Amino acid sequence: MPLSEDVVQKIHRLMARYPQPRSALGPALHLVQREVGWISPEVEEEIAAIFHLTPAEVHAFVGFYTMYYKSPKGVYHLEMCTNVSCKLRGADEVAQRLFQTLGVKEWGETTPDGLFTVNETECLGSCGTGPVMMVRKRGQELPRYYEKLTPERVEQIVEELKAQVDEPLPVEPDPMGPAHFGGMEPKVLLARVNKPDSHRIDTYLADGGYEALRKALSMTPEEVIEEVKASGLRGRGGAGFPAGVKWSFVPKDVFPRYLVCNADESEPGTFKDRMLMEYDPHQVIEGIIIASYAIQAEKAFIYIRGEYGFPYARLTQAVQEAYEKGFLGENILGSGYSLDIIVHRGAGAYICGEETALLNSLEGRRGHPRLKPPFPAAVGVYGKPTIINNVETLSNVPHIIKHGAQWYRQFGTEKSPGFRLFGVSGEVRKPGLYELPHGVTLRELIYDYAGGTLDDRPIKAIIPGGLSMPMLTADKLDTPLDFESVQAAGSLLGSAGVIVICEGTSLIDVMERTIGFYREESCGKCTPCREGSAWLEKIIKRIKNGQGRKEDLDEIMRLSSFIEQQTFCPFGPASVWGIRSAITHFREELEAYIEQTNPSGEVPPVPVRPIYRPDVGEPAKERV
Ligand code: SF4
Repeated sequence: MPLSEDVVQKIHRLMARYPQPRSALGPALHLVQREVGWISPEVEEEIAAIFHLTPAEVHAFVGFYTMYYKSPKGVYHLEMCTNVSCKLRGADEVAQRLFQTLGVKEWGETTPDGLFTVNETECLGSCGTGPVMMVRKRGQELPRYYEKLTPERVEQIVEELKAQVDEPLPVEPDPMGPAHFGGMEPKVLLARVNKPDSHRIDTYLADGGYEALRKALSMTPEEVIEEVKASGLRGRGGAGFPAGVKWSFVPKDVFPRYLVCNADESEPGTFKDRMLMEYDPHQVIEGIIIASYAIQAEKAFIYIRGEYGFPYARLTQAVQEAYEKGFLGENILGSGYSLDIIVHRGAGAYICGEETALLNSLEGRRGHPRLKPPFPAAVGVYGKPTIINNVETLSNVPHIIKHGAQWYRQFGTEKSPGFRLFGVSGEVRKPGLYELPHGVTLRELIYDYAGGTLDDRPIKAIIPGGLSMPMLTADKLDTPLDFESVQAAGSLLGSAGVIVICEGTSLIDVMERTIGFYREESCGKCTPCREGSAWLEKIIKRIKNGQGRKEDLDEIMRLSSFIEQQTFCPFGPASVWGIRSAITHFREELEAYIEQTNPSGEVPPVPVRPIYRPDVGEPAKERV
């Protein structure tokens, strides 16, 4: 179907917004999908012509991102998260009821009336309010989340959707959300989230919003950088690199410069950035403007994951409000400094949370990580100096500027100053988001704030920093949650997404879902990660299905050590830390499972890759 003139005009307007028009490829595809339903080969050809690319380049881009449809879907596309945090809260039972209600047998099916297509999906960043389902409606660009699902509720939702088929699907929070907010008093980053209209600029201004920006603009950019350096603020995205130090790496005299706010929050167990964008977007925007001023960026991008429909709506509204009040655009508050912000939607690729993959994606390419060095601070987006900071990191900045570095340092520990948003999910009574100083212990977080475990079950394992991080055992409950202490205990603080797993939960299930996630999300650029994750999944599935051998555990350790040591980007090691730590800490339990489920020790050969012979039209076969 040819694209209408109106759509083509809109695409050209999108292209004009970016320093390089190819950056608009992703947003253009979202737009086209809304208009025509899916990205057919004919659409790819038309898009290629508009962008002066080859159809193969567009096809490669479309194929990389899961949110672009390669075939038509039902009126509603229901995508259920079955990742670990949702699974621990009953996602499997919800999925089963969804299947029964719709009369479908497997993921990927569309109901005969063409109303519903169902798929399982990876983490949707709703771990504290799981199980969660994302619903996309044909003809609408932004999806909607349904959270805290139960089997009964999913039936009810299906009925509601059927009844509202002629109405637009509202982009608004699920009434069952937001996550439970708690922690220290007074709170800082979460201070405003429960207030009415906390997302609007008038309430933000009434609460002292944008005062830090006025103060920053009265300082020199160097003074702003020094203040943030002195605060010791460390990146909240996972790596924990000092933010002010990063800013100071921008080479002198190289312009233009860019700031990118990394809002591609996709690490299972992590949902803090989403809450900040939904309930206090101006806090994020003020942080972006101050950071951009500090590095003298002329343009800032917010790269937000495509699944985040409601946060996107809130952010774009907040950006518009900030322009209207003179906090963005030309000559901000008469300072002579000008800045534009573009909110850019991703399209479903976990790897784009890695900063160099994000830059490629922002440039309209597949999200493959880049070789480092050069680091983005020197050579980033469009080959220019670029600072990339996470949403939570940037949200700290206005408070540091407003109250000073010494105020900030009164929280936390010497090497991990400040407070942190800890997302707690899994088998606890009060999953949610807790703002607490670094150094609070795991025990305090889980028992004093998150209400203890479900049914008071003993804790078996804790993943302290998002699914990528090694598991800790219950004897580590008194570990202080700061970068150094968690590392000393044998894991990493990462994104501070804490997943709690209790006794009675099958570890092999957790391992299977963990490696399945990394197999699905590997960008495919390097062989050990792409092939190794698939191999590991096959072995773990075989164990789960009662065909395991004790030697398989050693085989998993052997294979995963190659992945840990020989991959191009940090995704590789992170993809195997979870399963390696499970074997290290729980080998006895896993061996007992193998013994019980496969006492004979006999196993079929492990299939390798399917062979496809398009030359002779042979169907795919498994090679063994
Ligand atoms: Fe891609 Fe995995 Fe290689 Fe990273 S380690 S570049 S995610 S294939």
